[in-house]
Amino acid sequence: MATLEIRDLHVSVEAENGPREILHGVDLTVKQGETHAIMGPNGSGKSTLAYSLAGHPKYTVTGGTVTLDGEDVLAMGVDERARAGVFLAMQYPVEVPGVSVSNFLRTSATAVRGEAPKLRTWVKEVKEAMERLSIDPSFAERNVNEGFSGGEKKRHEILQLELLRPRVAILDETDSGLDVDALRVVSEGVNRVRESGEVGTLLITHYTRILRYIKPDHVHVFARGRIAESGGPELADKLEDEGYEAYVKGGASA
Ligand code: ADP
Ligand code: MG
Ligand code: MG
Repeated sequence: MATLEIRDLHVSVEAENGPREILHGVDLTVKQGETHAIMGPNGSGKSTLAYSLAGHPKYTVTGGTVTLDGEDVLAMGVDERARAGVFLAMQYPVEVPGVSVSNFLRTSATAVRGEAPKLRTWVKEVKEAMERLSIDPSFAERNVNEGFSGGEKKRHEILQLELLRPRVAILDETDSGLDVDALRVVSEGVNRVRESGEVGTLLITHYTRILRYIKPDHVHVFARGRIAESGGPELADKLEDEGYEAYVKGGASA
């Protein structure tokens, strides 16, 4: 059973006036099959956590450990993490000029699976996944994220998720900027992957709205660079009513 273990994680970024610590000791265990919602105000460090787990070079881990099934994730490069089954859907997906969605997906699948998927089954796999996500077939020939609407970018992230079948899926504000129909389609995609029971999901969000579609097993309030409170789904209801004010009082974020 795949288990992601984050212990006392400290992360800094290089700011204008030198390094600045953003994460001040994060502890979290995500087991295969579980969904954890990470909820928190803007600027609390949620994306920093997501990027740090994926290995973004801008973020320096200054303390703590991250392991996946006991393997040291922090010692792995970005590619190795992807191969080990760590997947990040970014809050702001980046453009990849000159690379079509079709090529991008096949290259990613080849990297993650360790061999190129058989062409015939692959074409079918992609086509079916795109249909499920209500993505127009012409999309496959467009360059990754170039001129995509907010909703198209997020659907493309979920398309990757469905095709790559990671062991740990980190979804950073996959709900932001989506209208209700897109939110439903995206949530259904996440739930399909979840139902396999093979993935541990870290659902990062600012709003409780997506939790009507994706039911978390655990909810964590993220504030000022650490987990301030953990609970069950009822904690999301409390946040819906009371907001984050109680957690951010007494200082600036992070
Ligand atoms: P969230 O995703 O919860 O909104 P972020 O992780 O994006 O929070 O940001 C947390 C804090 O870290 C913010 O104050 C932000 O300005 C700062 N920060 C994040 N990334 C960088 C960076 N690359 N350079 C400088 N500051 C950063
Ligand atoms: Mg933010
Ligand atoms: Mg963020």
